Amino acid sequence: MFDKILIANRGEIACRVMATARKLGVRSVAVFSDADAGAAHVAMADEAVHIGGPAPADSYLRGDVIIRAALDTGAQAIHPGYGFLSENPGFVEAVDAAGLVFIGPSASAIRKMGLKDAAKALMEEAGVPVVPGYHGENQDPGFLAEQAEAIGYPVLIKAVAGGGGKGMRKVEAAKGFGDALASAMGEARTAFGNDAVLIEKYIQQPRHIEVQVFGDGTHAVHLFERDCSLQRRHQKVIEEAPAPGMTEEMRAAMGEAGVRAAEAIGYSGAGTVEFIVDGSHGLRPDGFWFMEMNTRLQVEHPVTEAITGVDLVEWQLRVASGESLPCAQEDLSITGHAFEARLYAEDVPKGFLPATGTLAHLVFPDGARSDTGVRPGDAISPWYDPMIAKIITHGPTRGIALKQMEQALSHTEVAGSVTNLAFLRALTRHQGFAAGEVDTGLIDRDLDVLAKDPVACSRCRSLAALCALGLHEGQDALAGFTLWEPLHQYAVFGYRDEVLQAMVETLAPGHFRVTLEGAAHEVCRDLVGWRIDGALVPARVVRHAAGLHVFWGNAYGFDIIDPLDVAAAAGAVAGVIEAPMPGLVKAVFVEAGQRVAAGDRLAVLEAMKMEHTLSAGRDGVVAEVLAGAGDQVEAGAALIVLEEEE
Ligand code: ADP
Repeated sequence: MFDKILIANRGEIACRVMATARKLGVRSVAVFSDADAGAAHVAMADEAVHIGGPAPADSYLRGDVIIRAALDTGAQAIHPGYGFLSENPGFVEAVDAAGLVFIGPSASAIRKMGLKDAAKALMEEAGVPVVPGYHGENQDPGFLAEQAEAIGYPVLIKAVAGGGGKGMRKVEAAKGFGDALASAMGEARTAFGNDAVLIEKYIQQPRHIEVQVFGDGTHAVHLFERDCSLQRRHQKVIEEAPAPGMTEEMRAAMGEAGVRAAEAIGYSGAGTVEFIVDGSHGLRPDGFWFMEMNTRLQVEHPVTEAITGVDLVEWQLRVASGESLPCAQEDLSITGHAFEARLYAEDVPKGFLPATGTLAHLVFPDGARSDTGVRPGDAISPWYDPMIAKIITHGPTRGIALKQMEQALSHTEVAGSVTNLAFLRALTRHQGFAAGEVDTGLIDRDLDVLAKDPVACSRCRSLAALCALGLHEGQDALAGFTLWEPLHQYAVFGYRDEVLQAMVETLAPGHFRVTLEGAAHEVCRDLVGWRIDGALVPARVVRHAAGLHVFWGNAYGFDIIDPLDVAAAAGAVAGVIEAPMPGLVKAVFVEAGQRVAAGDRLAVLEAMKMEHTLSAGRDGVVAEVLAGAGDQVEAGAALIVLEEEE
């Protein structure tokens, strides 16, 4: 076994590899870009080397700099993780040439699977079923249209150099072929610098089922299948193992095909053979076809680890250090069922737009595996994939593992960035998914329902009101409580673009009545949790640097508003002092032409039964006074204007 390895990656996969290295007594070297100097993978490593700027091309893709770092730190091998340099045969050759070990397959094995057309030809030779279609050299549009006709519509045009769904077009009928071909080729040219395409039969009701293989360069075994049919725009969302509805016969056929594929290219290490499966008539041993092979550890490898008990990274290190395959095919078996959900910083209602932010609060669930590369306080930066974590559950049956996932997701707390958590939870409750009726079109068909953004109800808002006043914590049980009368307090807080106001009466220690937007709720905090109008609710309330959150099946973020800050900030920026909320002007202390200094009292507004002093945000001269004592004003009304600054 190696003494020290370098991990040429970042985020969760770097941390994942280091965890196993540590378990095996192997020291690890991290590499990091400027953007990652304080990242979890750097903190976790035994040593760390700075390799360049935040853009991947300036750091994580700099093979030469990374190899230099390995040599300088005395690492004997390099683990590439996934993405970045993991499937770059030129990098593998450079690692070999430097006298280091690449923890993964040979450059030639990667090359053989690198282009989809060549890989399909090779697999056909090895007796692995491939999707019917044309994957030859002739790229003449007229010829390709004839091929599409011969295959039979609908067809799929795919870039041979493709990945991530780029350069891929489904064509329903002959008349759309020409345009789709031109746009697929254009996209492929831009993305991969190679506009060659292949044409495939479009499989109806397709399921994506892949086989985990592991080779030692000569022999290979398979570790059964994963079903990754739950996809959005060809990107996996929730994966599981084994595949629902899989028969022993088909599993054996797919496993053997996977092993044949790996052995045909002398594969070493962990790899995945992806198949497309026709799900329209159930799973049949003759209903699966090779799509491509990923010559690296996959994002979704933990579901395979869960059902087989194998640590795939341990196997990678052992085989790369010269051991033969750790076990034979007949020693491998499946126990139970596992799911993995990919938690991303992304704005689902805005079309799954990647998001950024500093994770002011972050809690992962007990009772599930969470693979992550971020800690509370870490940032999701715009430079890299916005994945926050992978949540993995493993139970004795599919039904139990899915319930565990739903629970795990509802106990996952993220504040500081929007996430796809509500979307993932909606998927775990989808009836078709629960019934195992998965195919790659499921998410799109029900997207409207799945991507719905839950809105905080008045009960949830009541909890936010208590939190805004600091009344949500146990040690403050007596806060705001007087023996002789219920005490009223007013909370002002923000939800999305709204400013909310609530009146809170303390009825007894930890017992409140919250009135807001015409609703009134009795809210009790007892030892078990929150009780609203008598019913126990599974909500948690957290105040953090960026505001406050109510976690109640979903994450509802609120802003804490200090009315005076709003006024001061507005005054400081624009020189306009506005009413922070609707109210009655009690007094105005200045008149036009008067010189004022920052912090001077300008007016008093009575709102929500409290008096708020409005002060100057900066030095200046009063240009106009727009309100007088006794005026009733709306939120946002300009009260006093300062002269423009020179
Ligand atoms: P990429 O390398 O760009 O990710 P893949 O070849 O792996 O492309 O295909 C991505 C996804 O597209 C698959 O998971 C599947 O959902 C869908 N797909 C691919 N080939 C077919 C096909 N022949 N018929 C139907 N769907 C397909």
